[in-house]
Amino acid sequence: MRQHSGWRVIPGERRLLRSNAHLILLAILGVVWFISTAPAAADPNEIASPYGFLDLDDPRAVVDANGAPLLTFVRYEADDGVLWARGFVDIDAWCAFARKDPTLSASKTEQAGWALSVGDEAIFWPLQALMYICPEVRDTVGAIESRPVVFDRFTRKWRAPHIEFTDGENLCQQPSGTVYWNPTITRAYGAPVAWDVFPPLVGLAHELVHAWQRVVEDRQMYGSSMQVEAMKRENVVRYAFYRKVPGFEWVRPRPGNKGYFRNGTFVAYFEDMEWSEWSVDFNPMLDIFEDER
Ligand SMILES: [Zn+2]
Repeated sequence: MRQHSGWRVIPGERRLLRSNAHLILLAILGVVWFISTAPAAADPNEIASPYGFLDLDDPRAVVDANGAPLLTFVRYEADDGVLWARGFVDIDAWCAFARKDPTLSASKTEQAGWALSVGDEAIFWPLQALMYICPEVRDTVGAIESRPVVFDRFTRKWRAPHIEFTDGENLCQQPSGTVYWNPTITRAYGAPVAWDVFPPLVGLAHELVHAWQRVVEDRQMYGSSMQVEAMKRENVVRYAFYRKVPGFEWVRPRPGNKGYFRNGTFVAYFEDMEWSEWSVDFNPMLDIFEDER
């Protein structure tokens, strides 16, 4: 038989309930008052938001002695005007500046990327550069850092997703969300196609998407289908390098994973594409396997 506990109230209790109702109402009002008056939590993106890098063809870009545009870091005004602009020869030069700049470095421990870098400034500042070059990466990093630990079911330990240097391949260890980044890697396969070459930070950005897939989508094991999203978002970063970073105008979109295979044997790389053929909605291809009959 199903037990049913009704709201049967006897007269003595009724008064008690009514006075409790007053207390509950007061408590709710108190919470509402607290929420509306409590200072908002510091937004880690607030420090970053007024800054960015200009496109190389922006007329406000700082130029060198030969009139060639430099990597131009700006502070924006509220109306999207530029308060000041400063030119750098490369990303390393910007990192050296930012590391010493009182505003950019004062609150570094609260900024997006500090937790992922585990406080290693050799990782933190290039990551900052990457996020200023391509603000979409800041959203990826913010989402990863929103979950401080994940449970690695293989080692049966709670692990903090983070970035480490490696001498080996770029990769994301999927169960723990650990990103291994080799800043000397600039090629995918050593292939004779333009898309094979990329700036090292593009390699980092790609692996960060896999860490995002671990944290946000709970993908605890690597699967090749995860490459589509990683390459898709990698292309957004490639496009930002192409537009903003001097010396990287040769960067092309990545059309896909590797290319065509026949009977398990590699046959051809995916063909290069131009930026005019690309949009942010473009889904890069997975490897294409064909059997000969
Ligand atoms: Zn990948």
